[in-house]
Order: sequence, then structure tokens, then C-alpha cells
Amino acid sequence: MTRRFIIKEIHQQKLKDQKAVIKGWVKSVRTAKWGAFIVVNDGSCQRDIQCVADKDIEGFEETVAKLSIGCSIALTGNLVESQGRVKAIEMQVESCELIGGVSEDYPLQKKATSLEFLREVAHLRSRTNTFGAVFRVRHALAFATHKFFNDRGFYYLNTPIITSSDAEGAGDMFRVSTLKKGESDYSKDYFGQETFLCVSGQLEGETFAQGMGAIYTFGPTFRSENSNTARHLAEFWMIEPEVAFFDLEDNAQLASDYLKYLISYAMENCLEELEFLQQMYKKDLIETLNHVKDSPFEKITYTEAVEILNNSGKKFEYQATWGSDLQTEHERFLAEEHFNKPVIVTDYPKDIKAFYMKLNEDGKTVRAMDVLVPGVGEIIGGSQREDDYEKLLSRMKEMDLKEEDYWWYLELRKFGSVPHSGFGLGFERAVMYITGMSNIRDVIAYPRYPNNAKF
Ligand code: ATP
Ligand code: MN
Repeated sequence: MTRRFIIKEIHQQKLKDQKAVIKGWVKSVRTAKWGAFIVVNDGSCQRDIQCVADKDIEGFEETVAKLSIGCSIALTGNLVESQGRVKAIEMQVESCELIGGVSEDYPLQKKATSLEFLREVAHLRSRTNTFGAVFRVRHALAFATHKFFNDRGFYYLNTPIITSSDAEGAGDMFRVSTLKKGESDYSKDYFGQETFLCVSGQLEGETFAQGMGAIYTFGPTFRSENSNTARHLAEFWMIEPEVAFFDLEDNAQLASDYLKYLISYAMENCLEELEFLQQMYKKDLIETLNHVKDSPFEKITYTEAVEILNNSGKKFEYQATWGSDLQTEHERFLAEEHFNKPVIVTDYPKDIKAFYMKLNEDGKTVRAMDVLVPGVGEIIGGSQREDDYEKLLSRMKEMDLKEEDYWWYLELRKFGSVPHSGFGLGFERAVMYITGMSNIRDVIAYPRYPNNAKF
């Protein structure tokens, strides 16, 4: 029996003068007097393979002549170097077997289809060049994430998805409950208390960092905020490293090393995908990524950011004032127009940040950092954590948080407390940034957002 090769290995190894089986979906078919060109893709890589079927081959009329876009087929034949200018590998077909035909209502028959339309047929969009490219890059970035942290001695931790703590009120939460309609006594609920889907694994991550040294999580995260934007999902994936004996400077360095590593990994392993995405969606994608990978990130304090915004002469919808959170328009101005590269903003006013961030000596700001990138805005949020028991407790009181809800979190500050830091990277935001896609709904398989969970 002839061996099946995936198209990726055929192109990568330039397999030629060899018999092979190819299985995949028909991208296009062109018939002529002498026979047909069948272009096939099997999802293994960006590149298709051209297959040349002579009219005389067995079963030409019953199979090849009837093929249409989207049919699944198995082709057997010889791999040869093509005669043309580009010496690509192609197949000289000996036999063609139709595996699955395509009915007339196949929505992807036309070559050009909009991203909006493809969201309506999310179950089929992985067949397109765009989604093949995006999801191969997404895979590579997930793999690179594990490699990056593993190589640096971090341990991969899975924090709970069902949780009773609201992690700082990072976002609005989805309730998890088995109570019947009309019942509202949560002490009778499944867990004997109110529970939710996690908005972050940070607090649990901190407990393990203060035992294992350095951990990272990489898991689903849920926020029921009503944000119908191109950068928010109700269900997204977050990577949260947390490290003991680590201050804000170490944390910022880790964040920039990690982002640069992701970019380098994608450039080395997904260049054809990036080239395709560049051609289709973002003309300077590769040049920009190269630039970011080779130059240091900008680092400014929140106070400096507000000054830059106010001296910019630019009219914003909301003026930046010290003490209020940076708006998306501010973040994008800083990253896109002012610096035109990733910017790390540190030391935000304590009142706009979570209770667990370490208070600076000025008593007004905390050791927070956000990483902003062109095209996306905030991609990472992190901080050095408050490691002093009394200071943490008084912050919690100021913010009306109940001590008994966080007793275990507070205890970490009683038993061998250490300076420690961490951050959260929104995985889809990173995928957007590196693929150049402008809507977060196009970088996750089945996006969840207000009024949409239909697939
Ligand atoms: P934003 O201000 O953009 O809503 P945030 O400040 O609420 O984000 P954090 O709580 O700091 O976000 O979460 C850490 C990271 O998780 C963010 O930097 C971002 O990359 C990502 N993230 C947060 N909320 C979402 C969301 N709804 N969909 C996708 N990614 C998100
Ligand atoms: Mn944030």
C-alpha cells in the first residue's frame, strides 16, 4: 500500500520521484481537453498542492470530471518537481477516489467571502486560507507559550474553573448553579455557597508560586461584562505567570521576553501563514513584528502617560486626567501614534487598580503594569503583589472586601511571605496582534459574546 503523506511534509522535505497518497479537500479544479488540474489542501500547511490528472487515468470521467470545490478526495500518484518557473512539488495523478461529495448549498463555493459572512458559518471556516492560517499560528503560539515557560523552569498549573472567589472583581462573573427556578438560597446550592466561572486564576496561582517558585496557568477565563467590542470575548484564554522573589522590573522584563519569544517563534514556524495574512489584511505585518522583536519596549509611568496625552495636542473623546483609568483611545494613541511599538505603563493610581497590588512609597500609586501594543491596545495586565499582611488587610478594608472571603490569600502573607509578581496575557489578544487580525471573534474557534453562543 502506498503511504499517505500530509502536504506539509511533501513541501517541507521537497519529496519527489516518489509514489504517494494525498488526502484532502479540493480547493479548485480546472478541466481542459487533456485532463484536469486539481488543487488540494489538507489543512497541514498554508500551501496547496497542484495535482495533474490526465484524461486517460482510470475512472477520470466518474471522479475527476465531477469534482467541485470542497469535495474530499484521495489521490494516488507520483510526486514530481513542476516544470514551471517555481519549482514546486506537484502530483502526477494515477487514480482519484471521491471520498465525500459536496451538495449545491455549500456556502464556500465562491473564492472571496467576507469575515463577517464566515462568522455565520463558523463550522466551515477552518477550510478557508484565512482561518487555516490564523489557527495554525494560534497553535504555534500555544506551543511556544509552554516551551518558553518550561525552558525557564516554570511549572504549568491548572487553577479551578469553578470558583467562589471573585478575584478582585476583575470582571463580571457568570454564575454556576444547580438551583431550580425560584430558589435563591445558595447554601442549598451544589457547593453550599455561591459559585462562578473564574475571571482569573491569579489568586490561586499566587499560592502555588509561593511553594513551587514559578508557575504559569493557561486556561479558559470567563467575563460576563457587556462588552460588544472587537477586543472582548465572554470566554477567552489567559496565560498567567506568577513568580516568587520577583519585583515589577523582573515582571516587565518577563512580559517583554515572552512577547518577543512568541513573535520569533511565529516567524520561524509560521512564515507562510504570516505572509498570507500580510498580503490579505495588514500590509506591514512582518516588518512590524520584526521591528518589535528586535527593539526594547518603551517603559513609562502612568503619570508620564497622562502628561504625554495632555501635551499631545490631540482631541480625545475623554480627556486624560490623573486618577482616572486610561481609555482605549488613550492606550492606542500611546502605542500606535506616540511610540509606535509596545509600551509598558507602570505605577497606576491605587484607586483604579485591584486591592492586591503593592502600594508604592508615595501612598498613591501601586506597582501595576499594563502592556499596550499597536492595533490591539492592552494585551497584558500585571503587578507586583502586596506581600505585607497589614497593608493588604487595610487595602481590603478600604475597598469593602470581606476578610473571611480571602483568609487563605491573607495567610500567605503570614507564613514566609515573599515579594512576588505576575501578569495575565489575553491569549486571543496576542493572536490578534501577531496575525494582524482586527476582530477577536476571528481568532477563537467559536466566539462567545453577548447574544451569541450559537455554535
Ligand atoms: P480591558 O481593559 O481590555 O477590558 P482588563 O483590564 O479588564 O482588560 P485584565 O483584568 O487586566 O483585563 O486581564 C488581563 C488580560 O486579559 C488583558 O490584558 C487582556 O489581554 C485580556 N482580557 C481581559 N478581558 C478580556 C476579554 N473580555 N476578552 C479577551 N481578552 C480579555
Ligand atoms: Mn487590565
